[in-house]
Amino acid sequence: MKTTYKNIIENAYNLTKSLENSGKLATYIPELANVNPSNLGVHMTTLDGTHFGMGNHQDKFSIQSIAKVLSLTLAVKLIGDKVWQRIDVEPSGTKFDSLLLLETYKGIPRNPFVNSGAIVICDILLTYCKNAKIEFLEFVRDLSDIPDLNYSDEIADSEKATGYRNVALCNFIKSFGNIKNEPVDVLDFYFDMCSIEMTCQQLSQTFTFLANGGIKISDGKKIISKSKCKRINALMLTCGFYDESGEFAFKVGLPGKSGVGGGIVALYPHNYAIAVWSPKLNPNGNSFRGMRLLEEVTTHSELSIF
Ligand code: GLU
Repeated sequence: MKTTYKNIIENAYNLTKSLENSGKLATYIPELANVNPSNLGVHMTTLDGTHFGMGNHQDKFSIQSIAKVLSLTLAVKLIGDKVWQRIDVEPSGTKFDSLLLLETYKGIPRNPFVNSGAIVICDILLTYCKNAKIEFLEFVRDLSDIPDLNYSDEIADSEKATGYRNVALCNFIKSFGNIKNEPVDVLDFYFDMCSIEMTCQQLSQTFTFLANGGIKISDGKKIISKSKCKRINALMLTCGFYDESGEFAFKVGLPGKSGVGGGIVALYPHNYAIAVWSPKLNPNGNSFRGMRLLEEVTTHSELSIF
């Protein structure tokens, strides 16, 4: 890896570490409250496969909504543009678990990264896969080169016991006819999908295919076409950070996706993918220090998509 990238990451990490660790853990999923709030990790993987990380970059954490990018990837791989008959591609301007716009848009979620959209993606996968839970896991195992990757029962069970808003979302969408399977099955898969754990190193490696036109860097396998890759990156840029996607584009200037476990993955097309993890979230549900660290990286590298 270029020494300039290493220096920039080191400086960004050290600066972020010295700042006040503001924000709150996502305690609405009880299991997520059991992490050390002072953890901070960052890892970058460039398209030539070299990589560099700091801090807690090799500790596993719950990737939560970041998995929504991977489930969307599998859905567009399976049924292509048909996905967009069921989900829109617009920023929601509302919280990630909001029910508000589903009434206005008659059960069509605004985008695949808010909870409602990801729940419809799970419904699509249940319809088009023989066994969606297994096929999705195998897809992510292959993409990440982690053959023993699994769902976390602790995290999934914790959310299954408390995820009332997601239950409401799924049933509400079903009332408009945009959920085809039984809500109980769709939700079971959705909670499992969100429970996957990875390290910053694994996450940055996994997402390099989106910086590489849809091609996996470790074995050259085509995951999706360039055009599908472009669309997923566009959605990450416009909808990847809940109601703070504009702010992330404004300050960081890269496509990315956050999760309430405090992880963020972002990518600079043709160059690298980078993952950060700091569990305390800002009021919009994004990692407080993660956003800050990535802002430092793109500011000092003077490289963003803009
Ligand atoms: N499993 C979480 C939920 O449904 C995902 C939220 C997120 O990371 O944005 O609330």
